[in-house]
Amino acid sequence: MNFWKQLKNNVLKLMIKLDNGFLCDTCRFNHQSDCPHPERPNRKECKDYEHK
Ligand code: SF4
Repeated sequence: MNFWKQLKNNVLKLMIKLDNGFLCDTCRFNHQSDCPHPERPNRKECKDYEHK
């Protein structure tokens, strides 16, 4: 992942965290075939998050 994409994802993660929201709602991997985490769709911390 390039620097700017990573920066964008980190800023969005911070905004979602401040809003006390779930990351999965705006994650491009929010589908059972694309995401390996059982906590989906209610995850608030995730290193694999990528904005849609
Ligand atoms: S990768 Fe993380 S943020 Fe994205 S859907 Fe899966 S658990 Fe949610």
